[in-house]
Amino acid sequence: MNKNVLDIINRVDELYVNPKCELEFNSNYELLVAVILSAQCTDKRVNLVTKELFKEYNTPFKMITLSQEELEHKIRSCGFFHNKAKHILEASHDIVDRFGGEVPKEKKDLLSLAGVGEKTANVVVSMAFKTPAIAVDTHVFRVSNRLGLANSKDVFKTQKQLEKTIPKDKWIKFHYALVLHGRYVCKSQRPNCNECGLKDLCKYYKNK
Ligand code: SF4
Repeated sequence: MNKNVLDIINRVDELYVNPKCELEFNSNYELLVAVILSAQCTDKRVNLVTKELFKEYNTPFKMITLSQEELEHKIRSCGFFHNKAKHILEASHDIVDRFGGEVPKEKKDLLSLAGVGEKTANVVVSMAFKTPAIAVDTHVFRVSNRLGLANSKDVFKTQKQLEKTIPKDKWIKFHYALVLHGRYVCKSQRPNCNECGLKDLCKYYKNK
């Protein structure tokens, strides 16, 4: 492994000792719904919405008693509510019909659920089942390319590059660390490079 990459991995470990997902959930099903809602939305907003939604609709059996319109109304403030409601309901039906009401453990089964793509499946397998995976969301994509850990404009290629570069036993932790770093330091419009503990190792900073 290239020394700079190794240094970045070690530094990220030091800076983020116990990084955690900021979505709030109490079951694998709640996690899945929260991740679907989190596309193009802040975790803070999702937590406000799910706090109310999960009071009554915290299992796929209960969720499918809602109509599309009713669910849209409850999740409206998360944005893209039409598609998100459709995906949640279709995935919930799939979980009930094909998996006995339990969120499946295998990534290939998760990917077979309506509305579940690579990123969502990776978050769920890693968070719910502790299976190593790197979910490339907007933060992981931006930070890893700025740092020089990846070099691609494509999310899936970035994921593949990170899977090659980062030791597998660090995938889960590394993913959450980069999410937090992107959310609070390496922001999209104005990365706070002066306060960044990775600046001496960062490709973007060196080329500024
Ligand atoms: S130095 Fe700047 S661009 Fe590089 S990771 Fe830190 S905040 Fe992001």
